[in-house]
Amino acid sequence: MSTYDVAVIGSGPGGYVAAIRCAQLGMKTALIEKYSSLGGTCLNVGCIPSKALLDSSHHYEDAVKHFEDHGIELTGEVKVNLEKMIERKESVVNQTVDGIKFLMNKNKIEVFEGIGSFKDATHIDIKKSEGETETIEAKNIIIATGSKPSNLPFIELDKERVITSTEALKLKEVPKHLIVIGGGVIGLELGQVYKRLGAEVTVVEYMDRIIPTMDSALSKELTKVLKKQGFKFNVSHQVTAVERNGDEVVVKAKNKKGEEVEFKGDYCLVSVGRRPYTDGLNADAAGVKIDKRGMVEVNDHLQTSVKNIYAIGDVIKGPMLAHKASEEGTLVAEVIAGQKPHINYNLIPGVVYTWPEVASVGKTEEELKEAGVKYKEGRFPMRALGRSRASGDTDGFVKILSDESTDEVLGVHMIGARTADLIAEAVTAMEFRASAEDISRMSHAHPTYAEAVKEAALAATENRPIHM
Ligand code: FAD
Ligand code: NAD
Repeated sequence: MSTYDVAVIGSGPGGYVAAIRCAQLGMKTALIEKYSSLGGTCLNVGCIPSKALLDSSHHYEDAVKHFEDHGIELTGEVKVNLEKMIERKESVVNQTVDGIKFLMNKNKIEVFEGIGSFKDATHIDIKKSEGETETIEAKNIIIATGSKPSNLPFIELDKERVITSTEALKLKEVPKHLIVIGGGVIGLELGQVYKRLGAEVTVVEYMDRIIPTMDSALSKELTKVLKKQGFKFNVSHQVTAVERNGDEVVVKAKNKKGEEVEFKGDYCLVSVGRRPYTDGLNADAAGVKIDKRGMVEVNDHLQTSVKNIYAIGDVIKGPMLAHKASEEGTLVAEVIAGQKPHINYNLIPGVVYTWPEVASVGKTEEELKEAGVKYKEGRFPMRALGRSRASGDTDGFVKILSDESTDEVLGVHMIGARTADLIAEAVTAMEFRASAEDISRMSHAHPTYAEAVKEAALAATENRPIHM
């Protein structure tokens, strides 16, 4: 039987990063993955393919709607070849997934293909697709089995017309009318892909606003901009039934007044969150506790109820984000190696890759109010930037919340072109406990979208933005 210092179950951004860090720290490491393709949800059916389709559909929209503004005339018809777009997305996924295989070889990590199932606290059975089982032994085990799409109990996902994100990433036709249940990250990102390609998109959201966990100013602005793009929003709607009649899908819901309403389309994307995934893991055999919501229970060192078994990523508490999973992978590897690493969970940024992009870090205004913290707000609109006017991306703003007495930055919320990248400045500043004035006194290249961060910081410090 092969023995290892560490065995990692699951090869997503949590698992593969944990494996690499363990190997870097000199541990003999095994990685067990159910599928032949490494990289987990993120690389195969999540972050990477969705961004590839967002980019392709954005090019199409630019060609159809915006080239003319820039003095570019297209003489022929601009058409979408969805099959080719999906093929390109698959080739992006394959290149990325192959990169992980390369990294496993480079770091001498032994990869096992099969379902990892606990035999006891130090032995894992690996059930291979051909039916045989191989058992390995490991001193330490990291559970990184990720998550799967959630569903509502009364919805039958036929995966043809009533679909999850996984199917939405490989549709064979552009829907005529896509009904999206859940106005969160997946619903809006994939909704925007198909909106740009010509679908009518109707979002049905249970809460009173889309992206309900982010700062409400971002919800408001994103709603306004997406409505201009043609999205239809129905917030405060409780979905009660989804029916399929041939090629038609009917979504029934109760609105705020308690009235029954119906939405008819040809596809329905169910994007109401994801659930932690531990099926087939046989966690009981090792004594690993799983809570009522299906999450593996962990302490601050991400140690489970069993001392030598750790868990990271979507399968434990916290935001279901690839970079959060990766930070946790690094942390656990370093804990096993006897180091004292730390993750600042307050500074895990959240991004929605619609256009305009939405990005956020730290506390929202609602959270500060709830906690009774006194704060100042500085806001700067993208439209006041020369860079935004040059590109034509004038929607959005940067909002900085800083402590009323110390001026320490407590939260940064932005919507606009390339804010997914701009948020890194806010994370860095907040990690070093910068004040809004610190940011306002740093030179920002001109002309850039980043100047909005400096201007919002000036507004938060002394309400003295230069260009407004
Ligand atoms: P996963 O990536 O889910 O990996 C878990 C792996 O474990 C899988 O490969 C699975 O096959 C394997 N596994 C499970 N059980 C076993 C077993 N018993 N034996 C062996 N292998 C097993 N996050 C972002 O930060 N940015 C984004 O832009 C983003 N976009 C997304 C878009 C979509 C459409 C979706 C669905 C998700 C997106 N996410 C994004 C979320 C991100 O994908 C997850 O947070 C991330 O993948 C979690 O990583 P993980 O390592 O915990 O688990
Ligand atoms: P989400 O939590 O972002 O959004 C789900 C939405 O569905 C929420 O707005 C919620 O209020 C709504 N909802 C819940 N129950 C409902 C009901 N019965 N009827 C109508 N609406 C309902 O979840 P998601 O969009 O499915 O994404 C899942 C996870 O994947 C998220 O945790 C997210 O972090 C991750 N993800 C991240 C990115 C990114 O970082 N850009 C992209 C995609 C997915």
